Amino acid sequence: MPAVNIALQPRPDTDASVDHAIQAIVAGAGAGETCNTDLAAGPWDFDTRPGYGPGSSMGDVIPTGSPRQGELPQEYREASEEDLDRRIRAAKATLGERVVVLGHFYQREEVVLHADYVGDSFQLANAALEHPDADAIVFCGVHFMAETADLLSRPEQAVILPNLAAGCSMADMADIDQVEECWEQLAEIYGDMDQADGDGLVPVIPVTYMNSSAAIKGFVGRHGGIVCTSSNARTVLEWAFERGRRVLFFPDQHLGRNTAKAMGVPLEQMPMWNPRKAYGGASVDQLADARVILWHGFCSVHRRFSVDQIDQARAEHPGVRVIVHPECPMEVVDAADEAGSTDYIRKAIEAADEPTTFAIGTEVNLVQRLAAQHPQHEIFCLDPVVCPCSTMYRIHPGYLAWVLEGLVAGEVLNRITVPQDVADPARLALERMLAAKPPGAPVVAGSPS
Ligand code: SF4
Repeated sequence: MPAVNIALQPRPDTDASVDHAIQAIVAGAGAGETCNTDLAAGPWDFDTRPGYGPGSSMGDVIPTGSPRQGELPQEYREASEEDLDRRIRAAKATLGERVVVLGHFYQREEVVLHADYVGDSFQLANAALEHPDADAIVFCGVHFMAETADLLSRPEQAVILPNLAAGCSMADMADIDQVEECWEQLAEIYGDMDQADGDGLVPVIPVTYMNSSAAIKGFVGRHGGIVCTSSNARTVLEWAFERGRRVLFFPDQHLGRNTAKAMGVPLEQMPMWNPRKAYGGASVDQLADARVILWHGFCSVHRRFSVDQIDQARAEHPGVRVIVHPECPMEVVDAADEAGSTDYIRKAIEAADEPTTFAIGTEVNLVQRLAAQHPQHEIFCLDPVVCPCSTMYRIHPGYLAWVLEGLVAGEVLNRITVPQDVADPARLALERMLAAKPPGAPVVAGSPS
């Protein structure tokens, strides 16, 4: 089964491994700086401790009751990189078509090397659909991604997350109780949330980013709302404005703000909803006038990027092309040359005919891999400090070897299952997204309806 989306062919003299770079920095043998020297340790050192662990989310508050990972057996913790590589290959060869391994763009190189598919969360969930006969889907990403794969896969298929502690700090910023409470408070202001006005518009359409729990996707599905990705956020917002006076957008304020601003929504019509404050901390007038209510969430990887970093890149690399992810703050997106999803970034680099210097504002594992794959270009991460996503980091080859060898032994470890009462409306919200088309887009035969 060939890896897709990314051709994994780093040039021989370039090491695409962020782990190796961190090990070298911590050992004093490599140039640069890392945000936390604990990143050189095995992630199992953090499985029993509270918090997200070292990396970009280490300062975020982890919700009580977040899934924890039991102790990884010693043989996997102590195995060498080469040994784990050999064991993973052997287990995959034994399992054959019975297993599909999915690797997110932000995953460490030592794991991505074993992925049958590499992509963003939605591409990977769709890749799983191409293997209805596989017994198990091993998702090397974070919790909400495994949930989405479970929503889209057959009920008999087991979706496995190699480390249960691989959550997502952004997804955790909108929990279902807070969202239900928000909805009730908005109903106090707007009245019956199901009642359309004279123009056929309901007061609020909830829109959630793919990076949210299945419970939030289910909430959105139950309330006439829709899911979006960073690739289709504008199309989805247009869909929502055809049905509602305003949008409640969660969990990522930055994607919501950047997308709505590009569509011409004034900033003063985008109040923030902070779930720790009454009525989100917004005034009744602000909410009455709102077009997009932005949930107070963010990605701690993309929040690290700054205008100063862009200024520095431009000063040191005249002619540099700066591309950032739309999860970055608005002023960073405004200062960049372009903003787009991981897929956009990847394609923009692939499409560049002339040798180009790229400064990229997204997770460092993807940036370093792109740099290795495109030696004709100079590609570097805008953030000079090596600080990977704390939760993607939790998937180490040791966990991958453990779950694969478990499957070989007939044991399904770390299965992620979305309860039926959540799964049905969550699927509905995903189906609405698949059916949403940009205005004027042709209807393609066979496309979802
Ligand atoms: S990069 Fe950000 S949004 Fe993605 S998994 Fe990490 S914390 Fe979550």
